[in-house]
Amino acid sequence: MAACPLQIDIPAYLYAVTKKNYDDALEIIQEKLPFASLCGHVCTHPCESACRRNELDQPVAIKAIKRFVAETVPFVETPSKAVSDKKVAVVGSGPAGMTAAYFLRKKGGHQVTVFEAFSEAGGMPLTGIPRFRLPKTVLNLELERLRRIGVEIITNQPVESVSDLFKSGFNAVLISIGAHEEIFLGIPGEENPGIMGAIGLLRKVNSGEKVDLGDRVAIIGGGNVAFDAARVSKRLGAKEVTIVYRRSEEEMPADAEEVKQAADEGINYMYLASPIRYELNGKKIRVECIRNKLKRPDASGRPRPKPVKGSEFSFEVDRVITAIGQNTRMLQELHTDMDVNGRFKVEENTLMMNTDGVFAAGDAVSGPKTVTTAIAMGAKAANTINTYLGGQMIVDLATFNPENLPQQLEQDDKFLAKRMPMPLRPVENRKNNFEQVELGLTEEMAVAEAKRCLRCSLRLGIE
Ligand SMILES: Cc1cc2nc3c(=O)[nH]c(=O)nc-3n(C[C@H](O)[C@H](O)[C@H](O)COP(=O)(O)OP(=O)(O)OC[C@H]3O[C@@H](n4cnc5c(N)ncnc54)[C@H](O)[C@@H]3O)c2cc1C
Repeated sequence: MAACPLQIDIPAYLYAVTKKNYDDALEIIQEKLPFASLCGHVCTHPCESACRRNELDQPVAIKAIKRFVAETVPFVETPSKAVSDKKVAVVGSGPAGMTAAYFLRKKGGHQVTVFEAFSEAGGMPLTGIPRFRLPKTVLNLELERLRRIGVEIITNQPVESVSDLFKSGFNAVLISIGAHEEIFLGIPGEENPGIMGAIGLLRKVNSGEKVDLGDRVAIIGGGNVAFDAARVSKRLGAKEVTIVYRRSEEEMPADAEEVKQAADEGINYMYLASPIRYELNGKKIRVECIRNKLKRPDASGRPRPKPVKGSEFSFEVDRVITAIGQNTRMLQELHTDMDVNGRFKVEENTLMMNTDGVFAAGDAVSGPKTVTTAIAMGAKAANTINTYLGGQMIVDLATFNPENLPQQLEQDDKFLAKRMPMPLRPVENRKNNFEQVELGLTEEMAVAEAKRCLRCSLRLGIE
């Protein structure tokens, strides 16, 4: 719970699953997280890294259980009337904007309009995360929640001016425009059209555009975005896909599960190497790299890669995809509200910017992070916007409610069981298609898995 950006009452919903009370489990999750299915599919589950069961064998598969609950309880979302005469504009329909819009309408009763620049709502989960990890049906159902409760979503509507929104009658504005501007290395030859950013590639593929990358593809970067781009390249028909990463395997920030799945799919790795120049050689791109040695940690806490003089080498590919980070696009009118890293500056407790009535949340404030971080900021923004509009806190972000749980352990033989592995689509059935790879736990598996919880939260009830 402590590691979850939303501090969801995890022990309580796991306990409800052990009793097969799935409605209760979903209700506990949805107190803070309206989009349980989205997070059940893609959350980076910091809770599992902090889970005490790690010290015994393997953490409880909390994310997989959340997905099971979200997929088992039938979809219900009742319309919710606007009881307030206040109007809120949410700019950007990613997880941060979706969450703030949900709570401001459902619990605040305001008239909420979401403005989205792209032709469809959903933010990076729609345009960035590949379909084999997050089917579009999952995201569409979450967006349906917003529509059912009466949130208006206007697509193809980029917002450039906040003052125009105020002039047209909005009382508060939330900027949740994410971080979609790709960062490039700035090395010679990068302007070559054979070199593209991962965000651009994934957006094209997720929009259904046909993309031919050729046979050999190099991916620059070692984070989740690089891995998504690599796995997508393989599915588009590339025969040889190589991730080029400047540090070593241990420092790679990508999720261990994604690294494992990518390895199963035949992705290659080149560690301790950085591109220094690209050159066109006929239709091929010659990638010139230099080898790195790891030195003392830098600001990120990871060892700093230092180029080794004279260690240059090169290889040829058809395409280079770079995945080294993203910035937020500046809104001209709010440029004084941005810091040197291109992120919106907000007052930490309220998420309000220097401009009265304008709030910001999600990647646009934190830089590229995660869906749950953006959701947590969206929920916090809902609270402070509602307070700004004269109301109370509407999302209880307090941590632990001991009343949700009996104060004794109820263990059975499943308590000693090993972690239930996520059933996966066989590797041979993943080629050339975007079908979901993680197939989800069965009921029997989810209940058994929930019974592995050590209930370490019980100590909080000891007086
Ligand atoms: C390839 C990839 C894979 C990822 N995988 C994961 C994962 O598995 N798990 C995880 O937790 N996180 C993942 N992330 C990160 C996660 O998607 C983001 O942290 C999260 O979506 C940020 O949410 P947000 O609401 O702040 O912004 P976004 O989701 O980026 O949404 C911002 C929205 O604002 C819109 N917009 C921009 N400018 C304007 C404007 N001027 N007017 C109107 N609308 C505008 C954009 O079109 C976009 O729809 C991934 C990111 C990428 C790129």
